[in-house]
Order: sequence, then structure tokens, then C-alpha cells
Amino acid sequence: MRQKKRVAIIPGDGIGPEVIAEAVRAMQASGADVELTHFDWSANRYLADAVTVPPDGFAMLERDFDAILLGAFGDPRVPSNIHAKEILLGMRFKMDLYANLRPVRLLDASLCPLKGVEPSDIDFVVVRENTEGVYVDAGGVFKQGTPDEVAVQEDINTRKGVERVVRYAFEYCERHKKQDGSPRRQVLMCDKSNAMTHAGGLWQRVFKEVSREYPQITPQHMYVDALCTQMVRDPRQFDVIVTNNMFGDIITDLAAGLQGGLGMAASGNIHPGKTSMFEPVHGSAPPIAGKNVANPLGAILTSAMMLAHLGLTQEADEIEAAVLEAVRQRKTTQDVGGSLGTHEAGEWVAKRVAR
Ligand code: ATP
Repeated sequence: MRQKKRVAIIPGDGIGPEVIAEAVRAMQASGADVELTHFDWSANRYLADAVTVPPDGFAMLERDFDAILLGAFGDPRVPSNIHAKEILLGMRFKMDLYANLRPVRLLDASLCPLKGVEPSDIDFVVVRENTEGVYVDAGGVFKQGTPDEVAVQEDINTRKGVERVVRYAFEYCERHKKQDGSPRRQVLMCDKSNAMTHAGGLWQRVFKEVSREYPQITPQHMYVDALCTQMVRDPRQFDVIVTNNMFGDIITDLAAGLQGGLGMAASGNIHPGKTSMFEPVHGSAPPIAGKNVANPLGAILTSAMMLAHLGLTQEADEIEAAVLEAVRQRKTTQDVGGSLGTHEAGEWVAKRVAR
């Protein structure tokens, strides 16, 4: 008998709770065999009792849950953003969720700002290293506030960290097909090794070595600046892209633009075999929070990605099909061409899923 999957829901701040409510509605409509437990880790909680992550919080998530569905963090009332750092970066770093998987898929030609691009032209994934790089926040400042101030931000890259994420990208390429059923064939590593020679050199060597283990997959390379141009000029050429933490963060915002904006993009923070975390790519978007205008489709697609990861592929497919239909029929929020509110757009998807 299949065991019920245990999912921790952490909606967070801003538009997080609004879009996660709709993701939960879609999952429930799909009949997925999941047991959901809500947690209030957020700016509200931090402001009320100064707790960001309760003691033992990450260990509890790993022990008691199969997956985590997260909204977004960031609130103008907490200018230091300390709670966001401790919850979100804490989860990625302390739970060692080293592969940030960001699928880039165009659901409908109308969503893409590029001319003459069809849905079949944009179907790639970015695998972003998620536990190292400049986001480790190593370094420091010296003589702060004086004209002689020095700020050092270290870019940490370990052999182990680079190798495992590069290998994850090749494994992903080998095991996953494109939406049209054709095999994935190419892994492209993106860096800036012409200027950042130390870290770039490590990435280059590891990529070359790991690629030899996968002779059926074509290894490619691009500098990150060239990749940005190419992503706009010809996104058809991409299949699987692997890169470091910061470049991955930046190029996936650009990629989100190709698929209809931040409101459409889904992501997973994965450590194979361990409790992984899924979140929409967008942040808490304070200017639009509480107005019932945020696009819930990125969060809904994120819930489908999580269900697929948990082996509930039929439910995941049903949710994705309903989102596709919502986009085609413009039963969406304004940012992607519709006229519905967050709640109404989520309700439309849930009804479609439940049919
Ligand atoms: P973070 O650094 O936490 O990822 P950010 O500062 O990059 O966040 P977001 O919070 O993602 O920015 O939002 C930036 C802008 O993008 C928002 O103000 C909003 O205009 C738009 N946006 C983001 N998410 C959505 C959404 N779900 N629906 C509609 N618009 C959105």
C-alpha cells in the first residue's frame, strides 16, 4: 500500500501565503494522498516572539516530512531580512539542499516577449548550485563607514560541492525527457572562468571529468554574459544548464521573463534521497501583497513539481494540465493576460483539476 506523503507547508511573508493557499487548493483537488502540516515561520512570527526557526526546526523537517512547500520570505518591517536568511538560506544550507532545479517552460506563445517563439522552443532546466558560492556570505568589512572602507565577499567553491551538482545535472539530463517526449541530450556549464580563474578553473576541470562518464550527453560551455545574450536570441538551443549559486539566481530571473514573468516560475531545492523543499521562484513581492493580484500559477506549478518528486506523477500531471488550460483560456491574473484575482485564478485551476 502506498504511504501518505507528509508535507510541511511554510507560506511565509507577503504574497507567499496568498499563492501557497492556491497551491494547496490544487493539490487537494487532485486527490493527492498527502498529509499537510502548516508552520507559521514568517516575519509576523519573528516580530511577535523573535523566533525565526524554532530550535530543532530543520532536524524536525528532515525527520518528520517527505517534502516542504514554501512560499516566500521578506517583509519591509524586518529591514535586516534576518528571518528570511535564517529560514530560507538556513534551509538550503543546513539541510544541504544542493541542487536548485528551475524548469523553464513556455506554456503558451502569448506569454513570451520574444517574437515567433513557440512553446516547444522553450523547454530547458537550470540546475543552480545552492549551498556555496558568494551566498555563503563569507568575508567581511574593514574600516566601515570611512573613505578607506574595504568589503570582501568570498566566492566559496568546493570540489565536492561542484562535483555533486554537475553530476546531478548529467543524471537529470539522462533521466528526464522534454515535454514533447524527446530525450534531453545536452548539459551546458555556465561560468565566468575567463575572469574568475580560480573558481572557474575548478568548475571547468570537474565538468570535463564528470562529462566523460556520460558519453551519450553532449557537454557544452558558455560564459555567463554570452549565455544571457543567447537566452534572448535563441532559447531553443538550451536543454540542461548547470551553474553556480549567483549566476543561477540571475539567469533564472531572465529565464522567468521568457516564460511569462516571475509569477509563472517553479523551483525545487533538492538533495536526492533527503527531504527536499519546493518554492516558487518569485519573492514575497511586498508592493502587491494582500491585494489579491499575485499570480498563483508559479506556486501551483511548484506543488506539481513536488508531487512528481514524491512519486505522485498522475496528480502532478493533472495540475500541470489545468494550469496550461488556464493560461490558454486566460483564466489567470493580469500579469499573464487575464483579469482574475489570485484566489479566483487558483479556484479555476482547482475546479479544472477536480473534473
Ligand atoms: P527575492 O529577492 O526575494 O526573490 P525580489 O526582490 O527579486 O525577491 P519579488 O518579490 O520576486 O522580487 O518580486 C518583484 C516584482 O515581480 C514584484 O514587485 C511584482 O511586481 C513581480 N512579481 C513577483 N511575483 C509575482 C507574482 N506571483 N505575481 C505577479 N507579479 C509578481
